[in-house]
Amino acid sequence: MVKVAINGYGTIGKRIADAVLKMDDMELIGVTKFTPDFSAMIASKRGIPIYTTQEKIEAFEEIGVKIAGTVEELINKSDVVIDASPGKVGEKNKTLYENNGVKAIFQGGEKAHVAEVSFSSLCNYEKAIGKKYVRVVSCNTTALCRLICTLRKNFGIKKVRVTLVRRAGDPHQIKVGPINALLPKPIKLPSHHGPDVQSVIPDVDIVTTAIVAPTTIMHLHVVNVELENHVNEDDIINVLDETSRILLIDSENMKIQGTSQVIELARDLGRKRYDLYENIIWRDSIKIVDKELWLIQAVHQEAIVVPENIDAIRAVTGIEKDPLKSITKTDEKLGVMRRL
Ligand code: NAD
Repeated sequence: MVKVAINGYGTIGKRIADAVLKMDDMELIGVTKFTPDFSAMIASKRGIPIYTTQEKIEAFEEIGVKIAGTVEELINKSDVVIDASPGKVGEKNKTLYENNGVKAIFQGGEKAHVAEVSFSSLCNYEKAIGKKYVRVVSCNTTALCRLICTLRKNFGIKKVRVTLVRRAGDPHQIKVGPINALLPKPIKLPSHHGPDVQSVIPDVDIVTTAIVAPTTIMHLHVVNVELENHVNEDDIINVLDETSRILLIDSENMKIQGTSQVIELARDLGRKRYDLYENIIWRDSIKIVDKELWLIQAVHQEAIVVPENIDAIRAVTGIEKDPLKSITKTDEKLGVMRRL
């Protein structure tokens, strides 16, 4: 059993912790918490071992949260650390991992150079096998990589152009915005998402633009792909229908017309925290115009990177060298769907 530690128990960290608990080839040996709060209290009640810094132990114990040890002690006894600290903090934490000789998986808020490989399961699982430091790319980049690698493998791609409508903040955040504006970010095009996709797929011609919108639940992408081969809409639908981690919905029969209804679907499916691990693509948005594919997809930013983190653990530790086997196992255990 691979011993996994989670450094940073926030939006992403708590979800990866729950995912690790569902796997039978890895063990959650503990998480780190830096603020004594309700999340620590609930994790503690669930029996998850919590670690913090020496000077904070007392504050946790005052609210009834038992502390298992210090951050360094946890890192030292792990085989692999999931660094789910706030963006740019992971790079600072890297020294801790180096000093303790443990492997680490960073998140998309870090610059690509923090790791040897920027990772997306459907694109480059093999490249991460046996590596020490891997970065699972961000929510937007993960969704784009899954889609682009699938289209490229099946149809060939000349170029990709994407407009991303980004959620302004996660639901729990109290200090983010805008609350009443559509914010082109950056105004000076293009956005950083294109180069981030290229950190996984270096030779893809991609340009992206992004707008921040006053919503917390999902991102939305309008994707335009010029394909190498002549295909029709059914060819695209048939391939996407068979692809792991991509779920087709529609606006007519299912009457899902916006992201709030997508989230309601997750609630009806009984997903914990309404987590959607899949790219959610509107089947009826798929359109071919002059060899160019258009489609619209929604991305649940809090959950989409969770399956990739689980695969990354298997890749870096080498316990599974076959990408398909890891992806299938992760998806089965998490209940990731290909179709409704
Ligand atoms: P978050 O703020 O919700 O959680 C970060 C956690 O790290 C907090 O609990 C914080 O207390 C803890 N922390 C603070 N200092 C730390 C330290 N020195 N070492 C370890 N942990 C520390 O952040 P998040 O949204 O979970 O983001 C984590 C990473 O995942 C970032 O790189 C982010 O860019 C990336 N990411 C976020 C999202 C998203 O939508 N929230 C999606 C994909 C990827």
